[in-house]
Amino acid sequence: MLLKDKVAIVTGAASGIGKAIAEKYATEGAKVVIADLDLKDAELTAKSMRNNGHDALAVAMDVTNEDQVIKGVEKVISTYDTVDVLVSNAGIQVISPIESLPLAKWKQMLAIHLDGAFLTTRECLKYMYKSGKGGSIIYMGSVHSKEASVLKAPYVTAKHGLIGLCKVVAKEGIKHNVRANVICPSFVRTPLVDKQIPEQAKDLGISEDDVVKKVMLKDTIDGEFTTTEDVADIALLFASFDSNALTGQSILVSHGWFMQ
Ligand code: NAD
Repeated sequence: MLLKDKVAIVTGAASGIGKAIAEKYATEGAKVVIADLDLKDAELTAKSMRNNGHDALAVAMDVTNEDQVIKGVEKVISTYDTVDVLVSNAGIQVISPIESLPLAKWKQMLAIHLDGAFLTTRECLKYMYKSGKGGSIIYMGSVHSKEASVLKAPYVTAKHGLIGLCKVVAKEGIKHNVRANVICPSFVRTPLVDKQIPEQAKDLGISEDDVVKKVMLKDTIDGEFTTTEDVADIALLFASFDSNALTGQSILVSHGWFMQ
C-alpha cells in the first residue's frame, strides 16, 4: 500500500482521468476526496469506492470559485485533519479557431485550468506547510503543455502555464517538503475527448475516423491512445515518491508524441 492513510484531493474526479486516479489511490490505501462540480456526480463515484471498502469523501467544488475551493478544502481538513496530495485535474476543452473564439470561452478555459490550479494549490499549501509533513501537488498537463495544435489556443496556453506554476510551487515548497510535478498525457478516450471528435471533424472538414487517425494519434509512434490507467500509474508515482529529488518536473505519457 503505497499511500496508506494519505489524504488525497483529486479535482474533476467524477469522470475520466480524475476518477481513475482516485480509484488507483484508494486501492493503495489513500483516503480520497472526490472534488467535482456536481455533488451528486462526486457522491456517485465516492459511494462506489466506499462500496469497495475504500475511504472516500465527495465534495462539491467548482475550482474557479474561490469560496467553494476554500470551503471544500476546509471540509477535507475537518473530516480527515490533513491533506497530503493534491491532483489538480479538473478541465474542459474548447475547439475553435482563434479568429472566432469568444473572449468568454478563452476566459473560461484559463479560469478552470489556471485559476483552478492556483486556488486549489494555495489552499492545500496552507495545510501542507502547517502540518510540517509536506506533500505532493500534481498538475494534469498535456502534450499540449509542450506542443501546440490548431483550434486549441486557450487549452495550449493554459497547459503551458501549468508548467510555470509547477516550477514556482516546487521552488517555494521545497523548504516545507512540498513537491510539485506535471503529468502530460496524449489523447485518452474520456468524455472530454469523445466530445471533441465530432467538433474537430466539423471544423476541419474531415471524417470522425480521420480525426482519430490523422489528428489525434498521428504523432504517436504506435497509433495508440494513452489509457486512464497509464495516467493513474504516473499519478501514483508522483504521489508516493517520497523524496525531494523528484520535483518541478513534467512527464510525458504520450506513446512517443513529443520527445524531450
Ligand atoms: P472528463 O471530461 O472525463 O473529466 C473532467 C472532469 O472535470 C469532469 O468530471 C468535470 O465535471 C470536471 N470539471 C470540469 N470543470 C470543472 C470545474 N470548474 N470545477 C471542478 N470540476 C470540473 O475529462 P478528462 O479527459 O478526464 O480530463 C481530465 C484532465 O486531463 C483535464 O485537465 C484535461 O485537460 C486533461 N487531459 C486530458 C486528456 C485526454 O485526452 N482526455 C489528455 C491530456 C490531458
